[in-house]
Amino acid sequence: MQPVIAIHGGAGAMSRAAMSPEKEAEYLSALDDILVAAQAVLAQGGSALDAVTEAVTRLEDCPLFNAGHGAVFTSAGTHELDASIMDGATLRSGAIANVNCVRNPILAARRVMTDSKHVFFVGEGAEAFARAQGLDIVDPSYFSTDARREQLQRVQAEHPDAAVLDHDGQAMVAGVQRAPEPIDPDRKFGTVGAVAVDAQGNLAAATSTGGVTNKQVGRVGDAPMIGAGCYANNRTCAVSTTGTGEMFIRMVAAYDVSAQMEYAGATLAAAADSVVHHKLPTIDGKGGLIAVDAAGNVVLPFNTEGMYRGYARVGEKPVTAIYR
Ligand code: ASP
Repeated sequence: MQPVIAIHGGAGAMSRAAMSPEKEAEYLSALDDILVAAQAVLAQGGSALDAVTEAVTRLEDCPLFNAGHGAVFTSAGTHELDASIMDGATLRSGAIANVNCVRNPILAARRVMTDSKHVFFVGEGAEAFARAQGLDIVDPSYFSTDARREQLQRVQAEHPDAAVLDHDGQAMVAGVQRAPEPIDPDRKFGTVGAVAVDAQGNLAAATSTGGVTNKQVGRVGDAPMIGAGCYANNRTCAVSTTGTGEMFIRMVAAYDVSAQMEYAGATLAAAADSVVHHKLPTIDGKGGLIAVDAAGNVVLPFNTEGMYRGYARVGEKPVTAIYR
């Protein structure tokens, strides 16, 4: 079994015109660095779980992506971070939502999985749990960047009632309607995630996000929901999603890929294609996902113009891309 890791940093309408060659290179090199680090974990015999944790922790620390440092703002000018992780070998999983002082939300999700008898903590309880676990606690201002603040100000000036997905900047009102125009074509960042299969054939998935710009306080998307934004099962696949969270929840998107494989005998590629290109579009779901199966197949489909993405097989050079 040749281990492999795949990552994403969000999908959206990332127009080539708005992205300078320097900016493009900056994204590709960030993705490459993160893949190299996670690939090393697998090369040294590390587990898929350790590899996705390594990748997502680094994606959270990188201000280019909307998770951890560099997370988007809520309508109240605050941050509310969500994360989840799942172990395909045991179906153990952990998730947290609505936290604003845990430096790396994915580490808190992992501790929920390994050190609590529960699966999902939210808000103050999640923060108290992270503190008790001795995780790195930061002032909420740690997550703020000038780019995100500008993004919030722009959205609030142009569409005060809309919660805006980074992806293609389409305003979502009440979760379903959208404004005709992209709001911020030069800033497209989304959720981050990773999926991996290790040398033992074990699968794992992890997802982390700051959510959507100008989101209503208390709103939670698909990223921390097992089955919607994250799923792993050794019998089928590991999946991490990014996109219009409300639609991914309604479609139970990540689990649907697995279910199609398990119940209908679909291949990973066919199942992922069905969810991203056929099922999600029926409810105007926009975004993409990354997935691996136990045989080491990797797919990275999206129905937007682009998705920050890449994968690396142990012993091979990482492959990264943004556009189609
Ligand atoms: N899916 C995320 C959410 O709805 C947003 C994203 O992928 O950018 O919170």
